[in-house]
Amino acid sequence: MIEVVTVDITTLDVSAVVNAANSTLLGGGGVDGAIHRAAGPRLQAHCGTLGGCPVGQARMTPGFGLRAPWIIHTVGPVWQGGSQGEADLLQACYTNSFELAVAKGLDSIAFPGISTGAYGYPVEQAAVLALETMQLYRFKVPRIVACCFSDRDARVYGKLLSGSTV
Ligand code: ADP
Repeated sequence: MIEVVTVDITTLDVSAVVNAANSTLLGGGGVDGAIHRAAGPRLQAHCGTLGGCPVGQARMTPGFGLRAPWIIHTVGPVWQGGSQGEADLLQACYTNSFELAVAKGLDSIAFPGISTGAYGYPVEQAAVLALETMQLYRFKVPRIVACCFSDRDARVYGKLLSGSTV
C-alpha cells in the first residue's frame, strides 16, 4: 500500500523514517534538522561514527528519541539542471533506502521528498521517480508512506498515484 500524507515526518508511526541528509550525515536544515531535533543528540553522536555517506547511497541508524525505531539517511543529488545524472542518483536514493529496509525485514517506511527542498529538484520529476520506485517495492514493504510537507506537493503525488495503472 502506498499512502500520500501531508504531515511532519517525525510524527509518523512507521518502522523507518527516511532522512534527506547531506553527505556529512551530521545534520542540517529542512527535514534533516527536524529529524535530528526529534531524535535528540545521540543521533548526531552516532552519525559522527559513520564517516559520511556518498550521494545516492543510504545508511541506517536507530531512531533514538524519534517515534520510528529506525532512520535511513540518504543523500540526494543537488539539482543542476538534470544533465548531471540527477535522476539516476535520486532513484538510487530510493532503491538503496528500500534495500536497507527489506534487509531488516521492516514492514513500513516513510519518505520525504528527497532533494526537493534546498537541493532544488523539481517536485513533479522527483515524484515520478519516487512513485515508480515505491511501486517496485510495494510487495516487499507492505506500507509505504510518501510524506509531503505541503498540500501542493501532496496534490502532485496524489495525481500521479491515481493516474498510475497499478
Ligand atoms: P533536500 O536538501 O534533500 O532538498 P530538504 O529538507 O530541504 O532536503 O527538503 C526535502 C523535502 O522535505 C521538501 O519537500 C521539504 O518541504 C520537506 N520537509 C521539510 N521538513 C519536513 C518535515 N518535518 N517532514 C516532512 N517533510 C519535510
